[in-house]
Amino acid sequence: MRESPISSTVDFDADGVQHGYLKLPVSHDESAWGAIMIPITVVRNGDGPTALLTGGNHGDEYEGITALLKLSSRLKAADIQGRVIIVPMMNPPAAEAGRRTSPMDKGNLNRSFPGDPDGSPTRQIADYFTRYLVPMCDYALDLHSGGRTLDILPFAAAHRLDDLALERKSMEGAMAFGAQTAIMMFELDASALYDTVVERQGKVLVTTELGGGGTSTPGSIELTERGVRNFLIFSGVMEGELTRSAHQRYVEMPDASCYVQSEHAGLLEMTCALGGQVRQGEVVARIYDITRTGTDPVEYHAGRDGIVLARRFPARVNMGDTLVVIGEEVATLER
Ligand SMILES: [Zn+2]
Repeated sequence: MRESPISSTVDFDADGVQHGYLKLPVSHDESAWGAIMIPITVVRNGDGPTALLTGGNHGDEYEGITALLKLSSRLKAADIQGRVIIVPMMNPPAAEAGRRTSPMDKGNLNRSFPGDPDGSPTRQIADYFTRYLVPMCDYALDLHSGGRTLDILPFAAAHRLDDLALERKSMEGAMAFGAQTAIMMFELDASALYDTVVERQGKVLVTTELGGGGTSTPGSIELTERGVRNFLIFSGVMEGELTRSAHQRYVEMPDASCYVQSEHAGLLEMTCALGGQVRQGEVVARIYDITRTGTDPVEYHAGRDGIVLARRFPARVNMGDTLVVIGEEVATLER
């Protein structure tokens, strides 16, 4: 495989604070010899672990983008021991457009891993993370949220892994993030995720979902900033005390029955609240046909008992959309 076409304007081995770019050459109508410019900050203070902090994997998930932009201008080398690499927007064309995917190539970055140096711009970005940035890190925190189409109960998550020691460390990282809810997450398709690439390299990966609706709130930003600081302490990059939610709860997502997905198009009425408890078989949503009056809605039911972790945000709904995600509250995330 050839080298990545992406070049970096920062020196990853230099002490101090550097702000710069990862530059991906892209020739297009508006700029024949142009480039996608991915902002990056590297803060290093001697030897120690490396924490890789990323946001904007999806361009309409603003909690992570905002918190990491703020951190990039505040973090000093004296605050840490080791190295912190901050990429607030992994896929800038998507973030600039306020969209989940890149308008340049329709690429969904978190479905493009491990990537390809000869692929579309989004796949080239994925490849750079896979072969250059992830190998540099010991701990990776990827800040997601619901974006424009989902609203999600704020949580940090890890995954069940074949490597039990890595699973345990990742679980501890998800708990250390300090959100009220920590989850062992079941992904509908993990094969092309950033998470999977990080985990396969034996690195600790904590992912988050921190709100959504294509916006942020004072509460979601405060939680994100606190969680990032907690993650740096957990990683051993920063000294300090973890600040956790007083009553942390643990949630498992054992299988696909957690997801309630639409088989109809129309108008969505939610009948369960985010964070609320539902019973298996309970009506969690109704979909109305908006092309006529006098018809009954289609009802959607919970596939299991549990807590409502996520809901579709826009009221207009199509076939295949995820309406509700239900997790199972457990006493511990240990196996
Ligand atoms: Zn996302």
